[in-house]
Amino acid sequence: MIKRLLIANRGEIACRIIQTAKKIGITAITIKSDAEHYPLHEQMADECYSVGNLPLQNSYLNQDKIIKLAQQINADAIHPGYGFLAENSDFVAKCEQNNITFVGPSSEAIKLMGKKDDAKECLANANIPVVPGYNGQNQDPAFLKAEAEKIGLPVLLKAAAGGGGKGMRKVIAANQLLGEIEAAKREALNSFGDDKLIIEKYLTNVRHIEVQVVRDTHGNALHLFERDCSVQRRHQKIIEEAPIVTDIPSKTRAKMYQAATEITRVIDYHGVGTIEYLYSNGEFYFLEMNTRIQVEHPVTEMITGVDLVEWQIHIANGDSLPCKQSDLKIKGHSIEARVYAEDPLNGFLPTSGKLVDFIYPKTSEHIRIDTGVQSGDDIGIHFDPMIAKLTVWGQNRQEAIDRLKGSLHQCATFGLTTNIDFLSHLASHNDYVQGKIYTHTLDSHIEPYLFETHIPDNINCLMALIHMISSANKSTPWQAKPFYRMNHEFSHHLRLKNDHDELVIRLHHNKNVWRVKSDVSSHEYQIHLTIQDNICSFSLDGMHSKTLFNTSNDTIWLLWEGRHYSARINPPKDAITKHKTDSAQLFSPMPGIIRQIFVSDKQSVKQGDKLIALEAMKMEHTLTASRDGTIKAIHYKIGDQVEQGKPLIQFDI
Ligand code: ADP
Repeated sequence: MIKRLLIANRGEIACRIIQTAKKIGITAITIKSDAEHYPLHEQMADECYSVGNLPLQNSYLNQDKIIKLAQQINADAIHPGYGFLAENSDFVAKCEQNNITFVGPSSEAIKLMGKKDDAKECLANANIPVVPGYNGQNQDPAFLKAEAEKIGLPVLLKAAAGGGGKGMRKVIAANQLLGEIEAAKREALNSFGDDKLIIEKYLTNVRHIEVQVVRDTHGNALHLFERDCSVQRRHQKIIEEAPIVTDIPSKTRAKMYQAATEITRVIDYHGVGTIEYLYSNGEFYFLEMNTRIQVEHPVTEMITGVDLVEWQIHIANGDSLPCKQSDLKIKGHSIEARVYAEDPLNGFLPTSGKLVDFIYPKTSEHIRIDTGVQSGDDIGIHFDPMIAKLTVWGQNRQEAIDRLKGSLHQCATFGLTTNIDFLSHLASHNDYVQGKIYTHTLDSHIEPYLFETHIPDNINCLMALIHMISSANKSTPWQAKPFYRMNHEFSHHLRLKNDHDELVIRLHHNKNVWRVKSDVSSHEYQIHLTIQDNICSFSLDGMHSKTLFNTSNDTIWLLWEGRHYSARINPPKDAITKHKTDSAQLFSPMPGIIRQIFVSDKQSVKQGDKLIALEAMKMEHTLTASRDGTIKAIHYKIGDQVEQGKPLIQFDI
């Protein structure tokens, strides 16, 4: 019986596992790195131990240290969460050798499913439909090219040992095949230590449908229906839901379930797992199996009422599954939206910094928040950019969408740019509502799904007013009416700087009404408002509304109707704007670590040439030249950490 569970993870999934462990009376123990100061997963755990410093290799990925810790503290089991060591068969083998229960499948099952080529071969032999393609041993580039042509273009090249959407290349033209194969091989070797490739037919109109499976150590297998994860960007899921969004014939659905449970038998799997399929033009194909708890497991929990982490622990204990397939029914519809620290209006580049305020709606049986962060946390560049998941439930899909939109409108991440506004906008988009988003949709044309960058004049005026009032209230402890003037009007003006503009705003107060006007418009807004804590109720030219806000020194953040706005009031004259442009310099668009420098001093470059590869939040981003020129100075070297907005390269143009 598991009594002391070591959770070898962090963030939202560690917090999620702690909740179930506590619910069933197990001591929850977590690990952390020296670099984290009392993170939420440490606060929630019964015990927490540091396993070393960053980089991750020295802490969260330090297998020997984690095994040794488990022994020292008498942990009887390790739960890996997802990511980190969850699908590392060497680590699982070490647990097995040291008599530590691994909450998950055997090392052999993980190893088999971890290689795309082996997994596909094994399942094709068991008559499971797999994506058509080549996954053989002959890796000679000329041979691979011939195979790709046989399959028919376009094709997708994938690293056999790959994962996380990394290193996939779509090839549409035959004359690009050889070059792309060679580049994909290099990338695969660098990222996964193995240059083996598989080739797949590039499918069209694809929906990503996955089936949740479970199997105990006594051979009982069940499925918990499907999830639709077709809303993706760069092969990373953004919104997931259960059950499916659009109709797939019930016969096909039944076949997908049946094949999924069959796979668990073929590989003698135990634990919870996910069978990922691509559904294209009426056919489904096995894509891969994830041998762990999946990020999007909450939607399945919402529609079935099952606690999947609890089932994982029971299976690891050797217990039999608690029910039969016929006991499981789909109830209603559930949607999960992933909140990422990224800036949709700046190419979705990762963001970091202080999360001044993290506000979300009250949780209930219909609204769930899974997060590992809280107000005041510093969001760094070393970990995954996903900081929270918002999951909702409704009687049907429309009710779930409405609840998702309502809940997103109450989620604020002040201080840190996140994708919440993008999620709100996407959830309201007709294509999403009608289930017309396929896996490639957002990559082929993102513009229709992005929200406007423009900040309306009335919002600028409102921000200026709220900032002025709340700063005045902070400095007058007896809550006097600092703007009340006997017999005459109070007038004030201030400078407001947002990401795009700098404005002068004039404010007048008389008889409880504010009249506010910016210098870029002739319109004067009439505003009444009351402020309580972080909520401002206002009427603006007769429109009644509410907004969440916060202020800190000269900054104000505001959330209104699903959009975050921010501005600085009377900032110092040299305050920097977020998106720097100056064609004689390359600025760092985000904080990160320099991984590669593709150019050298005095070298001439053409527009579009690669300059620097910057890594942040486990993703590599290539910065390119915005115009032709000659390199005058390179300010950093490989391995250096840089802040956002710092000049990296100077050009002579
Ligand atoms: P990874 O293991 O890196 O996550 P997967 O093989 O699971 O990669 O694929 C991730 C996503 O890439 C899928 O959800 C789908 O959107 C897209 N994809 C993968 N294979 C194909 C294919 N053969 N045709 C079209 N899209 C594909």
